Amino acid sequence: MGMIVLELKKNEIYQAKVIDYTTEGSGVCKIDGAAVFVPSSAVGDEILVKILKTAKNYAYGKIEKLIVPSPDRICSDCQISQQCGGCSFRHINYKSELMFKQKRVSDALSRIGGIDTKKISNIRGSVSENRYRNKAQLPVTIDRDGKISVGFFAPRSHRVIPLNKCLLQSEIFDEAIKVFLEWANNTNIKPYDESTHTGVLRHLYLRYAEKTNELMVCIVANAKELRKEKQLVRMLSENIDCLKTVVLNTNTKKTNVITGTFCRTLYGDGYITDELCGLKFRISPLSFYQVNRDQAEILYNIASEFADLKPNETLVDLYCGTGTIGLSMAKKVRRLIGVEIIPEAIQDARKNALYNDINNAEFICADASSAAEKLETRGIQPDCVIVDPPRKGCDTNVRSGYTCKGYISF
Ligand code: SAH
Repeated sequence: MGMIVLELKKNEIYQAKVIDYTTEGSGVCKIDGAAVFVPSSAVGDEILVKILKTAKNYAYGKIEKLIVPSPDRICSDCQISQQCGGCSFRHINYKSELMFKQKRVSDALSRIGGIDTKKISNIRGSVSENRYRNKAQLPVTIDRDGKISVGFFAPRSHRVIPLNKCLLQSEIFDEAIKVFLEWANNTNIKPYDESTHTGVLRHLYLRYAEKTNELMVCIVANAKELRKEKQLVRMLSENIDCLKTVVLNTNTKKTNVITGTFCRTLYGDGYITDELCGLKFRISPLSFYQVNRDQAEILYNIASEFADLKPNETLVDLYCGTGTIGLSMAKKVRRLIGVEIIPEAIQDARKNALYNDINNAEFICADASSAAEKLETRGIQPDCVIVDPPRKGCDTNVRSGYTCKGYISF
């Protein structure tokens, strides 16, 4: 393949058609053979693009003028969706968004996995298109008027775009944001500044258990205590009926990782409890939980159907986190074994089993591949393995380490 010499120049304007999306949902145009990424554009748009930044063989641009809009476009119902990096598809209809996501999965399976994609069934969209997210981690900043505010980062930046509400998140978060900002502005605590590693308030971290109507407010701070923390608790509990717990998480590191490892409960028990697949799960600030509860339930039920589990079988749930997937299927099998590398998550998984009267589950704190050997020495042969790995995927030792009738992969 010949090398592309990028002829595009910063600040110049070109006419182009948007032909695809990146995995992050930014539109892609081809100009003089080079890919140009244009956020907030839609496949089918005819646009004038202004080049903002050039790299070796690609560039970033922004829409200078929308000449012919894509038929997939809809009017965004969020005032800040153009600037905010929180979501990518507010300006296109949900059907087109689903088609793109289906294509993305199907392309990955055929290209990387060499799988015949004709057999893939149709994508199943979310039950609710709005207000489904049960978790928000909002960086704290000072806005243009000098007030403390929260928001999401603009795409590919650490510039916070302030918000009062987000249509993807639970409505109760709007209230929590309002009360938190009132407290923060009255108290005059400084937001954390990552460039100088000074200031206190890093993130407002919110979680909501929809089925049980319980709210967790967690303040992530570059400190072990906050000025007027009692006042914060009082203001939150006076204004929000479903407030269940308030937690202070301390993160004093120079890092992009949001939470630190130390939590102190300021109010309540330090966790909320949600219901999923008929079971109860404790959710603490550091534990993993699916952000779209209703959709997770549908997903787990489909996986369980595919697994076609039998009462005499052994089910292994690799990368089990707090155990939600395996536990939701435990009653169908003789034995469930969960494997997870983080000790706190394993403790939560054990508690969740007890909490739901599940006594055929065992949780092993180990690396997924080394657990294969441990099970083998104990003579345990899984009938079905569930894998829901983190972003970097599962390593080859994991795939060769377990032989069974089937894998259910998330
Ligand atoms: N399946 C769970 C959690 C998925 S998140 C659920 O749906 O709730 C992925 C999990 O993999 C995390 O909890 C992470 O701690 C764990 N993990 C990461 N690397 C691992 C490894 N090498 N071995 C075992 N678990 C690992």
